[in-house]
Amino acid sequence: MPPQKACVFCGRYDGLSKEHLWPKWMGEYLPLSEPNAHISELHSGIAKQLRTLQRRSERPGPVQTKKIRAVCSRCNNSWMSALEEEAKPILLRALTSQGLIVGPSEAERLSKWAVLKAIVGEHASGDHLTPADDRSNFRSMQAIPSYFRVFANMHASTTQAAYVRHSATFSLTLNGPKPSLPKGVNRNVQLTTLLVGPLCLHVSATRVDGAPNGLLDPVRPMACLHPISSATVDLGLIPVLTDIDLHLNSRAIQRLIDHPRVKYGGELPVP
Ligand SMILES: [Zn+2]
Repeated sequence: MPPQKACVFCGRYDGLSKEHLWPKWMGEYLPLSEPNAHISELHSGIAKQLRTLQRRSERPGPVQTKKIRAVCSRCNNSWMSALEEEAKPILLRALTSQGLIVGPSEAERLSKWAVLKAIVGEHASGDHLTPADDRSNFRSMQAIPSYFRVFANMHASTTQAAYVRHSATFSLTLNGPKPSLPKGVNRNVQLTTLLVGPLCLHVSATRVDGAPNGLLDPVRPMACLHPISSATVDLGLIPVLTDIDLHLNSRAIQRLIDHPRVKYGGELPVP
């Protein structure tokens, strides 16, 4: 029998429930065709040894049916459902209108929702990035870890619901990553792309000391929701992302690994 898994947020061994990554209410707003399947991609690698498309699954059903067993029902029914409720009016506006205008508090609520999806999504496989202490702080205070950045823009792709994650382990020194990877954590850069109807959310996490700010920022225009720098974000003022733009933005980790100054290769030292 496999060992019982603890809730990734509260650490309790109360039994995990298989939870929908996407809230159920969203189903009626998202077309179930084009394609009537969801694609989950996980690209990961160590230093330059990227294993492209390490895992790709196409499930007969929309991304709304994607379920992950990582969270206990107590977390799911308390602070997580509160966070979902707070984001719902903003997501509904994005789903039912041509654009989206958000002030700083709404940008923060939408960012927390996107970071929640990114952290839960990390646990669909064995390659996660966010250390337990940061997950615990996210549960108790909804504090977004300092190494997360969230961007948003509308897109013109026919794909209306998608979840794509890229992750890798990256070091700026020959002695391995700084900070070193805590027990059980084996990734330190990650990009999660979420398509929610016509809205695209780009959630990057770079847990590497000395890495340039914006290492995994989108190359095609998106507004930064977290950390926010302006009073109002109006996505109607930015050119809508095309399929090519979406592809280029989601390739940030590949660009990083391809960079001529990324030299460290081989297995990571064991801490
Ligand atoms: Zn829990």
